Amino acid sequence: MEGGAFPSDQYALETQVKLHGLDPDDAIVELVPRAGEHTLRTEDIIAKINELGESLCTIIMGGINYYTGQVYDMAAITQAGHAVGAMVGFDLAHAAGNIPLHLHDWDVDFACWCTYKYLNSGPGGVAGAFVHERYADRPDLLRLAGWWGHDAAARFQMRKGFQPSRGAEGWQLSNGAVLTLAVHEAGLAMHEAAGGMEPLRRKSELLTGYLEFLITRLDLPASRLEIITPRDPAQRGCQLSLLVHQNGRDLFEHLMAVGVIGDWREPNVIRLAPVPLYNTFEDVYRVGEVLAQWASQ
Ligand SMILES: *Cc1c(COP(=O)(O)O)cnc(C)c1O
Repeated sequence: MEGGAFPSDQYALETQVKLHGLDPDDAIVELVPRAGEHTLRTEDIIAKINELGESLCTIIMGGINYYTGQVYDMAAITQAGHAVGAMVGFDLAHAAGNIPLHLHDWDVDFACWCTYKYLNSGPGGVAGAFVHERYADRPDLLRLAGWWGHDAAARFQMRKGFQPSRGAEGWQLSNGAVLTLAVHEAGLAMHEAAGGMEPLRRKSELLTGYLEFLITRLDLPASRLEIITPRDPAQRGCQLSLLVHQNGRDLFEHLMAVGVIGDWREPNVIRLAPVPLYNTFEDVYRVGEVLAQWASQ
């Protein structure tokens, strides 16, 4: 897994490893960027996979790292993982609704995501899961089951012996919460009304590129502010993570006070994510104005 993954993933893997009677310090291998770099290089990820070889059981990474905004090469990681016999899964909390995803074609084994970021379902909203079609008819796969994953035709017979539904449904634990499902449906309808991922992604690349241009034009020394998100649009979604070396918290609070809603991550990162569904180029222009004023002080 990537070092500094979102805590959900850290804790999930830590406790899974314990469930199997292993020691997290031995069993979990974390990838960290090279000295002086902020993001992982695909070549280093793949080299590590090859180095671990058949001792590697499972690879779980974010599709987009929540902190740096880096998009990982999910197809390449999956291919490398499969070559050494590992399962490969992704946490797509920051990717769902943000970048185009082709999980089936990339041959990803499984993935999960919350829907309250780029899919706008609200915190605590319903989650999504992907299980590759090749496992659709594998009731023999051991899982920690719940009654809602049972074959729907016989679910209400309440019998002993778990028989999973076909596909990802067989991993459901319990009833979806109807109120959050209703909100999620509305969020998905808005995405669809905007034309779906393709036009949103086209606008997103321009919108985030424009923000990057305005920040780069400030010409600040790296000792003051760095964009740690990859500069290659293919390796990022909406988000730019700004590493602010001095008084970052002050800048963040100033942004919030003038109506620029970003978010702060300890120790000194501001995440700004112009979202194509509802942010405009004028919004980004105004963020640029606020930053220019701050930079000139
Ligand atoms: C936000 C986020 C989560 C949290 O999802 P919950 O539905 O709140 O558990 C998980 N993983 C990543 C990478 C996130 O950014």
